[in-house]
Amino acid sequence: MTSSATSQTNLLGLPRAALEAFVADLGSKPFRARQLMNWIYKRGEGSIADMTDLAKDFRALLRERAEIRTPEIVTMQHSSDGTRKWKLSADSSQAFEMVFIPEKERGTLCISSQVGCMLDCSFCSTAQQGFNRNLSAAEIVGQVWLAKQELGDFSRTRRAGDDRPPQAGGDSRIVTNVVLMGMGEPLANFRNVVPAVRILMDDYGFDLSRRRVTLSTSGLVPQIYKLAEETNVALAVSLHAPDDELRSELVPINRKHPIAELLEACWHYIDEQNGRSVTFEYVMLEGINDSPAQARALAALLKGHPAKVNLIPFNPFPGTRYRRSPMPVIAEFRDELIRRGVLATIRRTRGDDIDAACGQLAGKVIDRTTVRLGNKLFGVAVQQ
Ligand code: SAH
Repeated sequence: MTSSATSQTNLLGLPRAALEAFVADLGSKPFRARQLMNWIYKRGEGSIADMTDLAKDFRALLRERAEIRTPEIVTMQHSSDGTRKWKLSADSSQAFEMVFIPEKERGTLCISSQVGCMLDCSFCSTAQQGFNRNLSAAEIVGQVWLAKQELGDFSRTRRAGDDRPPQAGGDSRIVTNVVLMGMGEPLANFRNVVPAVRILMDDYGFDLSRRRVTLSTSGLVPQIYKLAEETNVALAVSLHAPDDELRSELVPINRKHPIAELLEACWHYIDEQNGRSVTFEYVMLEGINDSPAQARALAALLKGHPAKVNLIPFNPFPGTRYRRSPMPVIAEFRDELIRRGVLATIRRTRGDDIDAACGQLAGKVIDRTTVRLGNKLFGVAVQQ
């Protein structure tokens, strides 16, 4: 599990079809791939040697050519509200973060897709770090595998006598939901994110339903269309403003893909994927985007469409010029939306005492970009 970098293939990065091809390449039958996935994703076995129902010589060959390797933990912090944050190493000098948020009815794991971010949203702490690199599919899936291991969420690691209450719906899982809302812009790392979400949703993988895996994007429009062709994960979109002028200031990618274009892509995604609705995230910044008139303008954009709004109280970080809207203002904004027929909720702030709340993930990023989006547009590197 912790072998050093070699030419071994990390199995955590291979969705079922690719794993079948890999196994076939080693001269074995494709059904071995499903057996392997059962060991890896259901039982949480990280040691190929211990996969006892695989033939000995196949195991030996696998051990030569493959590995199951997760990112390594640098530190773990525990919040007073039960939230946990892990800092994970991307290499000797780079780190990224993931957060687990336990609630009564579910346990949400928030994972990262990049080390840093290039999109330069003015209210986000990750943006201030700059961008270093994309995470691989194995590093994305590896976060979930590692968290389940840490939380005792594999059947193998759930000891007899474990008296934790089962989750709602009779599901005894601890990690019930995964959100790609950590560091990075998932759609700017399309090539690795798509196989990763396939593994999360595959019956033979983590077997999470499409409603329980959410990809959040700041609005890379062409990639939303591509995503509709490739997967049906739940979509969340960081909107944050009801008009282009303000949104371009908060989320610079808006200058390239303005609101009307973005919303078209969202409705297309729902149509194609037969989805329920898009969740629009809206960070509440005092005196910037939180007026009743702005709530009305937002309602006008979304009313009649398959949309819900999730209002996120702004989480401050050192050096920011923004302040969180007061709670009554946020509640009024929500009520205004609801009065106008748009579903809206307020996201509960979790883990802020350990800087694990939305927008606070920083990790350790050595910025390798020369220009960031806020300064110069149209240069977002997107891995197709
Ligand atoms: N890049 C993707 C994934 C990040 S998700 C995206 O933009 O959607 C993280 C969510 O937290 C996004 O909606 C983001 O806009 C929001 N966010 C960023 N900084 C924040 C802050 N300081 N306080 C509250 N929410 C923030």
